[in-house]
Amino acid sequence: MTPHDFSETVFVGIFDGDNSNCKHFSIISDFCQDKFTTRVQNINMINKFLDYFLPSLCMNCGYLGCVICPDCQNELGFFPNSRSIEHLKVFSSFYYTKDSCLSRLVYDFKYAHQSDLVRILGPPLARCFELFINDNPILVPVPLHKEREKFRGYNQSELLSQWLSEKFNLRIAKCIKRVKNTGQQAKTAHQSERHFNMIEAFELNYLPPKNSQIIIIDDIVTTGSTLIACANTLHEKSNYKISALTIANRENI
Ligand SMILES: [Zn+2]
Repeated sequence: MTPHDFSETVFVGIFDGDNSNCKHFSIISDFCQDKFTTRVQNINMINKFLDYFLPSLCMNCGYLGCVICPDCQNELGFFPNSRSIEHLKVFSSFYYTKDSCLSRLVYDFKYAHQSDLVRILGPPLARCFELFINDNPILVPVPLHKEREKFRGYNQSELLSQWLSEKFNLRIAKCIKRVKNTGQQAKTAHQSERHFNMIEAFELNYLPPKNSQIIIIDDIVTTGSTLIACANTLHEKSNYKISALTIANRENI
């Protein structure tokens, strides 16, 4: 592969926002992928440096001075809701709609290396937790595949879990690992395909204490296949009381 090919590959990877679905990306060596990951980390550092000197623009309307302006924050509102998916109760802070302020926030949080957006998305998640969950559960963030986490530089579900953990003094257990790189589930429209992708996608790292109450944390719930696969991975070994908490419920896709 020539250097020019490599540049093109990186370009595609960035604009796809996700290397796992990118055919070009899969043909680069581990060495090149390490270099690319380092480059992404450098871009993140440069962005933080520039943010220090240059005022932010509202990511939704372009208003000068903050990442999201008060008007757009009001537009977000707070719409706590719950739904049952098979044996799992899922609580969410918002309903997800396309081309909304929330969808832009979540997209940038996941795919644009904007990990700081946890400061915007964490508080409504905490309000939802206070509303629906009174006990002292263990938080289990939905894991990313190690390749995707390396590319992204963080796991957004872990950041949300850390936010809740610090606010409510809760334990986080990274007791599940993702062993199958399923690609971007949001691009998979059909429930049956999502369900198929999730078969044997997770394995246990370790078992939480018996009879624990567990809350699985994720960004968006759509068909619920990912959350159900995580819950089943835990249920296979012990009888936990499991529910899930997400930023948004995207029930109608
Ligand atoms: Zn705005």
